[in-house]
This record gives sequence, C-alpha cells and structure tokens, in this order.
Amino acid sequence: MSRAYNFCAGPATLPAEVLAQARDEMLDWQGTGMSVMEMSHRSDEFVEIATTAEQDFRELAGVSDDYAVLFMQGGASSQFATVPLNLLGDKTSADYINTGIWSQKAIAEARRYATVNVAGSSEPQGFATIPAAESWTTSPDAAYLHYTPNETIGGLEFDFVPDSPGVPLVADLSSTILSRPMDMSRFGLIYAGAQKNIGPSGLVVVVVRKDLLGRARKDTPTMMNYQVAAANGSMYNTPATYSWYLSGLVFKWLKAQGGVAAMGERNQRKAGKLYDFIDGNDFYANPIEQRYRSWMNVPFVLADDSLNGAFLAGAEERRLLNLQGHRSVGGMRASLYNAMPEAGVDALIDYMAEFAKERA
Ligand SMILES: *Cc1c(COP(=O)(O)O)cnc(C)c1O
Repeated sequence: MSRAYNFCAGPATLPAEVLAQARDEMLDWQGTGMSVMEMSHRSDEFVEIATTAEQDFRELAGVSDDYAVLFMQGGASSQFATVPLNLLGDKTSADYINTGIWSQKAIAEARRYATVNVAGSSEPQGFATIPAAESWTTSPDAAYLHYTPNETIGGLEFDFVPDSPGVPLVADLSSTILSRPMDMSRFGLIYAGAQKNIGPSGLVVVVVRKDLLGRARKDTPTMMNYQVAAANGSMYNTPATYSWYLSGLVFKWLKAQGGVAAMGERNQRKAGKLYDFIDGNDFYANPIEQRYRSWMNVPFVLADDSLNGAFLAGAEERRLLNLQGHRSVGGMRASLYNAMPEAGVDALIDYMAEFAKERA
C-alpha cells in the first residue's frame, strides 16, 4: 500500500496516523467488541467520544463557554438556510458579502427567507480581490452580517476579520477552520462542513453564541433549530456518529502537532512556497491579489490550456491526485489543508517545474 498525495478540495486528505488508528479500532473499539459505527449514540462510550471531541475542538479553536458547539448534519450547504431561519428573529434583512461561488450560494438560499443586502462584492473584479471593508454598505438593522472567509473554489481568502458593530458576525469557515489561530469571540456564529479540514463528510460543526439561541422562526424544522440541537447535545436524533468519532481523532492529531498555531505556520509556509514558485515561473499563473491568496486552496492555470490533460495525466502518474480545478472555473487547484504534508507540496512543485521545462 502506498498513500498518494491527494489535493482534493473536499472530501479531502486525512492524516495517515488518524486513518491507521481508525483501522486499528475498527472491529473492536477499546474492548467493547464493536465498531464505533455500531454503538448506540446514547451509550456511555459514545457520549464519552462525543464530549471529548467537543472539548478538544473548543481547546483548539479557542471557543469559550459563551458559545454552544453543535455537531449537525446536512453539510455547510444546509447552514445556508439554517442560519437565516435561526438568526432573523424579528428582523427582516441580513447583510452578505459576495466574494465568490460559496457566498453566492449562501445569498441565494438566504433570499428564500430574508431580504438580502449584498453589502460588498468583488464580482466586478472577477472575485480576484476582497472588497474594501470601508466601502461596504452594511445596515444597523440587519439581523447579521455573513461572509465567507475562504472561497474554496476561487482561492480567495480574507486576511482580516471584519467589524460588524452591533450586528452578529456569521462566517462560513468550511475550508479554513483550524488552519491558523482565529479570535472566535469576534463571531456570533460560524459553521464548517467537516470534509475539508476536520474529518469525513456528513457532519457540519456549528459554533453559536448562546445569546443568539431561541430566535428561530416558528416554522423552522426541528432538525434545523440550533436551540433544540444545543439542548440535546446535538443528539435530538441519531447524529453522524462515525464522522464525529473520526473528527475527534483528527482533533487529537492536531493537538499533537502543536495546535492551530503550529498549523498556521506550516500552512503559511506550504502555500507560500507554492505561490512563490507559480509567481517565479512564466508557465503558471494565479489571478488573486497577493494579500488575499488562500493558504488552503491554490488555483493556477497553465500558459497553454491545451496542456491541461497532459499535466493532469503526468501528475497522476506521480500519484499527485485531484489537481483539476472546479468544473465552474477550470484550470488547476491544489488544496493544502492541515493534513497535506509539506512533502506533498514539495513533490507538486518538483513536478510542476519539470512539466514546465519539458513543455514550455
Ligand atoms: C465545501 C464548501 C461548502 C459546501 O459544503 P457541503 O458540506 O458540501 O455542503 C460551503 N462553503 C464552503 C466555503 C465550502 O468550502
């Protein structure tokens, strides 16, 4: 068996150590005679797994007791509706910042429930930059301000947390959570689909300030009500137990790596060397304004589009997988989440250099 370097944007590569531990524990978890998949979610064993995962996540992300941490289902996309259903309260409008495809999906879904004010957008700039915060037309009457700190498809990332005086700040952190230190106390609510930087798909982690609970619209489905989820320890119904367990193993792994501060340094270094290489080589290009380039998802194009197929085939031969860009934008994309080792980035750069030399 040999592990490939998997640059997929999600579901994404997981730490080999975590997968090996899950394998070792698969048939008989700690003498219980069963897999975690087969356990009752109400059993002492699973409740212990679940609460330990939450504690480790809180520690890693720096989440205080003022917040509830929820392990919900339906991925990040279900949160596009769950957020307005729960946070509008007696307000009718919400502010959104549009920086790319995931922002747009969140906006479209929110429009089913609220008047959406797009307070800032970099669409006129082809989403190659973040709209200057000074130019945003936010409203003090908005129920919340929503933004997407990292646009996974465009490779565009905020290098600051915006201010939202008097209005809860809401962030879709799906592709950047736990990738570096972040001040969680700035946010009213964050959510993150697990399959990028946390664990397997089927799970979305939500962190919500407790004073924002209890505002859900009356017709909010029970399964989408944050207060119900919080009151039931995310076990109103059967949660995604195996994904929760595996995420817990990833949290332990992250702590052993030195936590988010260590990951931040490593991620900056990984992305930095790939961007430096792209900038220094005429054969490759990345369109994003430098200070807003994503550490997690690095899109790039070849000087000659007709070589895309050859590039991908050669990469696959070297076991550098899933480098094709998102179907909506084309080109290439290398996702460099926490679990992508630095050696994977080095191997990619070596290949890119060789390919450019042969084909340029
Ligand atoms: C992947 C992703 C989503 C969608 O996640 P699902 O769990 O598939 O619904 C939403 N937002 C961002 C920023 C993402 O990267």
